[in-house]
Amino acid sequence: MSVNQQAHTGPPYGQPQPGYHGYQQPAYGGQPLPGVPQSQYGVYNGPMPGYQQPGPPQGYFPSLGFPAKGSPVSLNSDTSTLAPNFIGSLRAPPTSGAPPPASGASLTSGHVAYSPFGHGDVQNGIPASAAPMQRTPASQPFLPGSAPAPVSQTSTLQQYGPPPASVQQLSNHMAGMTIGSPAASAPPPAGLGYGPSTSVPPVSGSFSATGSGLYTPYTASQGPPPTSVSQGLPLAQPPFPGQPVSTQRPPTQVPGFAPPPSSTGVGPSSYPPTTGAPRPPTMPGPPLPGQTVAGPPMPQPNHVSSPPPPSTMSGPHPGPPMSGLHGPPPPTHPPQPGYQMQQNGSFGQVRGPQPNYGGAYPGTPNYGSPPGPPPPPKRLDPDSIPSPIQVIEDDRSNRGSEPFVTGVRGQVPPLVTTNFLVKDQGNASPRYIRCTSYNIPCTSDMAKQSQVPLAAVIKPLATLPPEETLPYLVDHGESGPVRCNRCKAYMCPFMQFIEGGRRFQCCFCSCVTEVPPHYFQHLDHTGKRVDFYDRPELSLGSYEFLATVDYCKNNKFPSPPAFIFMIDVSYNAVKSGLVRLICEELKSLLNYLPREGNMEESAIRVGFVTYNKVLHFYNVKSSLAQPQMMVVSDVADMFVPLLDGFLVNVNESRTVIASLLDQIPEMFADTRETETVFAPVIQAGLEALKAAECAGKLFIFHTSLPIAEAPGKLKNRDDKKLINTDKEKTLFQPQTSFYNNLAKDCVAQGCCVDLFLFPNQYLDVATLGVVTYQTGGSIYKYAYFQLETDQDRFLNDLRRDVQKEVGFDAVMRVRTSTGIRATDFFGAFYMSNTTDVEMAGLDCDKTITVEFKHDDKLSEDSGALLQCALLYTSCAGQRRLRIHNLSLNCCTQLADLYRNCETDTLINYLAKYAYRGVLSSPVKTVRDALINQCAQILACYRKNCASPSSAGQLILPECMKLLPVYLNCVLKSDVLQPAPEVTTDDRAYIRQLVTSMDVAETNVFFYPRLLPLTKADVDSDSLPPAIRNSEERLSKGDIYLLENGLNIFVWVGVNVQQGLIQNLFGVSSFGQISSALSTLPVLENPFSKKVRSIINMLQMQRSRYMKLIIVKQEDKLEMLFKHFLVEDKSLSGGASYVDFLCHMHKEIRQLLS
Ligand SMILES: [Zn+2]
Repeated sequence: MSVNQQAHTGPPYGQPQPGYHGYQQPAYGGQPLPGVPQSQYGVYNGPMPGYQQPGPPQGYFPSLGFPAKGSPVSLNSDTSTLAPNFIGSLRAPPTSGAPPPASGASLTSGHVAYSPFGHGDVQNGIPASAAPMQRTPASQPFLPGSAPAPVSQTSTLQQYGPPPASVQQLSNHMAGMTIGSPAASAPPPAGLGYGPSTSVPPVSGSFSATGSGLYTPYTASQGPPPTSVSQGLPLAQPPFPGQPVSTQRPPTQVPGFAPPPSSTGVGPSSYPPTTGAPRPPTMPGPPLPGQTVAGPPMPQPNHVSSPPPPSTMSGPHPGPPMSGLHGPPPPTHPPQPGYQMQQNGSFGQVRGPQPNYGGAYPGTPNYGSPPGPPPPPKRLDPDSIPSPIQVIEDDRSNRGSEPFVTGVRGQVPPLVTTNFLVKDQGNASPRYIRCTSYNIPCTSDMAKQSQVPLAAVIKPLATLPPEETLPYLVDHGESGPVRCNRCKAYMCPFMQFIEGGRRFQCCFCSCVTEVPPHYFQHLDHTGKRVDFYDRPELSLGSYEFLATVDYCKNNKFPSPPAFIFMIDVSYNAVKSGLVRLICEELKSLLNYLPREGNMEESAIRVGFVTYNKVLHFYNVKSSLAQPQMMVVSDVADMFVPLLDGFLVNVNESRTVIASLLDQIPEMFADTRETETVFAPVIQAGLEALKAAECAGKLFIFHTSLPIAEAPGKLKNRDDKKLINTDKEKTLFQPQTSFYNNLAKDCVAQGCCVDLFLFPNQYLDVATLGVVTYQTGGSIYKYAYFQLETDQDRFLNDLRRDVQKEVGFDAVMRVRTSTGIRATDFFGAFYMSNTTDVEMAGLDCDKTITVEFKHDDKLSEDSGALLQCALLYTSCAGQRRLRIHNLSLNCCTQLADLYRNCETDTLINYLAKYAYRGVLSSPVKTVRDALINQCAQILACYRKNCASPSSAGQLILPECMKLLPVYLNCVLKSDVLQPAPEVTTDDRAYIRQLVTSMDVAETNVFFYPRLLPLTKADVDSDSLPPAIRNSEERLSKGDIYLLENGLNIFVWVGVNVQQGLIQNLFGVSSFGQISSALSTLPVLENPFSKKVRSIINMLQMQRSRYMKLIIVKQEDKLEMLFKHFLVEDKSLSGGASYVDFLCHMHKEIRQLLS
């Protein structure tokens, strides 16, 4: 019976892909690891929000007698800073949270072993959440039809997928919008400006980290999903005969500009004129982005944001930009209900329309209102234009209750902001892959016409919620995975078996390949293999293969990876308390290194280096009584002075390591060395990994620009005057190619570099980050690091970074079916050819965005397929292949394309595209190109898909109705249009972060989440309903929370009730609230508990710990906060949403005329 179990002598199916060659390092690897448990991913479910620092491991004590200078093994003892002082006692362990369970039982879903041979015992291993798949308990190979496919594999494909939703033309009637009307005049006089901006403190913490993950927590209560229409789809049948497109989001009327749509409600407009003057009934020429409506430009030294507007923006605009405000309103449109003067309660009765906030309340920086009553602006009603909040809410209520079942080709998943479960029935979960469109044009011409980029955002090692099943690990033994003979695609649900099961035809290249004897299986009457449900690679979209030795460097199985901690011990690092903090933390953190699920302890070895101008290596061999230090002062030609004893097992060397970590802060306590090296540090780590013949990760904690004489030495070349010049791009480029070459060496070794930066001034993130970026590492920045306020954030980040799921020595290739191919890649990686994405390390938070182009025609019948294959080494040293498959529809009608787009993914792609563009083009060029591309996308829709309507209407595709607002957020982001206080390093940092972000992260990063805390229901677990990111939505009697994945702001209005202030801050008045708080006080009342629980929940959802900033209304920090109210005009000249929408409309009309 076990036809599958024949061992194979040859490796005919396990040839490495061409792109996997090139591992020339001598002696890569170590012993084969046959017995490595398959259950792994110890940290799969993410670092627990607060794992408790357990007490220090038993058995070590503060050591005495550190063999410093006099050490017999010391090579170059030229460190003058060694101090034979020792820590007297153990510090209390840091407090926070609960320890990860020792077994990982509840927090770590084990990697489910999935035998290819389909026996009952294996089936038992399938987690309950996979139950609906109901694989047969045992395969019954020779009884066609006997495979009791529980999800009845019906032959009627058409029954799946709802009928196409009625295609109403989503016209967004913009009747009142007369863009071309006489427009404005006169650049406003230099206004009152923005004085206080200079006093805004450096944005030190404002860019802390990325977030990831899901918008809302998964609730376990979502139980077994109700049967969905897509169940039972025979997954393995490649030709999906043009099923009806399942249009989950039927086109609806986009709230129009003029007639206020029912969906968003006519409601009171939130746009009262500044001084309360009534608005005119109509809306003549809208202002252009970059213009203030009635106010003068803000003096902003580093920006050219104020008028004149870019030429591209003023196209058909007759007359000077502002004239419309004063001229008579065009007669064509009736008064709009939304234009009455309204008072939403925000900021009292005098609430200015943006950007004329002037005088809204005393002391507020005047947003440029000219003196005197400004002319009443004539604007769109913000309530009548597409609202991100509404779209998010609608998707949640429409799609959040049922699981997303991946059986149907080309299904658009719920939004990233919706909380939903996924059931893999043959396509990869949207947690792994999201596409800009799930229905792609059949021809290149159509694609070009639409200008919709075809891209997939792939997160190969994404963390899944506990309710979902991790990819099964398939072990085909020595023969390795079954692959197409020609294109080397891996066996997947879309391969078609023919000739009674003896051969299969490749769904990617159509080549026919013999089924290897051990893999043979009979077909049932529908042509499906009878072991279909027993084999993940036949029935699931995502799974793993155990790789054979053919997939390893030098045909040797790898050794387990190593972590090397490299700590800057120069003056700043020591003085700030950072060195001590890191050493204390490591003592406990080292007990939580990633491990395979079943393993008692981590296989990862650790090593330690400290440095300033020279490097200190430490021998922490378990047999030593005390650690030994070796100093290398010749940094020009870095080498590792010791091999034995540098990388050790934590358990074995526990005492010595603890002793070392106690002594490091003391040894350098009196250092006066301020200069550091940097490249030699990476080189040292690289050399150590080379010598140990393993992959690994360097954790570098660094404080300053490396100006000491050494390779990779840098100079301060920061120059904000370059902003908005053709040379601005140099600020994003590394100042030397040295680091690119170093990165290449690191990738070849599988040496991933994670960088924790603690700058007090410019340290050239653009250059220091190169190696991190190209090795797939993570970068963290804590500007002006202060122990009291920043240590929680740093320690949480460090803990997560050390513990998180990571694959080493990774190579990713994306194969596609004939007709399209992957042409471009965005993310943190290195490419030595045009197809393979190489990453020394790839963690669970990193995404790679891949763009596809046509190279032939596609057919509606066969659709298009993607297969992402990631070869990597697990944290225990097991070599694996993770495969994700996704099938997409193809269309001959543009309307089908526009009905199946995903704007969040589109924005992810566009942002990454633009952020790469700034490396080579002037920022303005990049911005204009973005605007132009989006205008073309929308114009093409208008021309080809929308029903005829007057040119005065802006018509947006339902799926893209948020494209303008989100695009505007990208355009005014700090990389493309920096706020005055944003530093060059901030911009380089953000650029690097965004490049690896997934769709959920870019979504909240560009359009932050704004929650009215005072509206929270203290008795429920739910979040208060979000509101739109505009100042006019704020009421000064309320408290709000804003998060963007990097920061959390808590904004307190001046009129907040005293009781609320007392409950939340523990002080009796608004004036007593301290803006310096980095956490909220722990107070025993429902409101305090609710707010803190909301904050904790948000922190858990993000991949980085967000910095908490308390903002009091009218306080100087409010400027920082307002920067994130992205629907408003920004201080750097970024347009308001309303203005930008008008501008987009103009652009579109231009393209159409
Ligand atoms: Zn093929």
